[in-house]
Amino acid sequence: VEWYGPAARDLPWRQPGVGGWPVLVSEVMLQQTPVARVLPVYQRWLGRWPAPAALAAAGVGDAVREWGTLGYPRRAVRLHQAAGQIAGRHGGRVPAAVADLLRLPGVGEYTARAVATFAYGQRHAVLDTNIRRVLGRVFDGRAHPGPPRAGDRQRAGAVVPESPPAAARYTAAVMELGALLCRARRPGCDRCPVHDLCAWRRAGRPEAGRSAGQRYAGTDRQARGRLLATLRSSPGTVPEPVLRVAWPPADQRRRALAGLVADGLAVRSAGGYRLPD
Ligand code: SF4
Repeated sequence: VEWYGPAARDLPWRQPGVGGWPVLVSEVMLQQTPVARVLPVYQRWLGRWPAPAALAAAGVGDAVREWGTLGYPRRAVRLHQAAGQIAGRHGGRVPAAVADLLRLPGVGEYTARAVATFAYGQRHAVLDTNIRRVLGRVFDGRAHPGPPRAGDRQRAGAVVPESPPAAARYTAAVMELGALLCRARRPGCDRCPVHDLCAWRRAGRPEAGRSAGQRYAGTDRQARGRLLATLRSSPGTVPEPVLRVAWPPADQRRRALAGLVADGLAVRSAGGYRLPD
């Protein structure tokens, strides 16, 4: 926590009293996307929709377009749906209770506890990829934490400070340590504030098996991304021949377009496809 004070990045969603909506938006955007790519979209998004009711009143197609190239664009649709529920059922205010947050579309165990912690100063065991990696190295001596296991949250909770404000700051600090120093590759152990405590470093940093990383080029995911970018760049219907040029392999294109329609990211329209209204 002492390290975090001077080391923390100055990020807009960490400003004091920032409120539930900016924190929820930032957490959803950060679920799969690095900070540097999130920042400009986050600023535009909140400039345009400073409250859930404003987003709920917009079309879902606008949300998908504004999502830009953040990836995993179903998040935009879910955030739009969540905004509608917040406006309709919670008086326009992002709920503070984890149970209520978990009922919102696109909000899972991590996001619900992160919002309750960072926006509302509650005490929770928050577990994201970074925190799991730091705790796995410090306490278990494992290079990579592996898949989630029963009891992870209970174990993580055992080292969270008791007072809610201290717990929130501790959580932000461990997350930041994982992002800045305790990285998956080439961790900066020489500058790490807990290097004397860390079981993995003390064991000489033995490497565990590591996944080879996911191939992207030529995958259905790339096809979806390319086709959605084509739809986003057009105000109306994109004709089939244009989509054929965007992604030539026919089977994969049909599969990707069907997936986009099923996920609420596109609709069929005369002679082509477009973003939903
Ligand atoms: S000493 Fe290295 S591996 Fe251990 S917590 Fe610090 S950065 Fe991570």
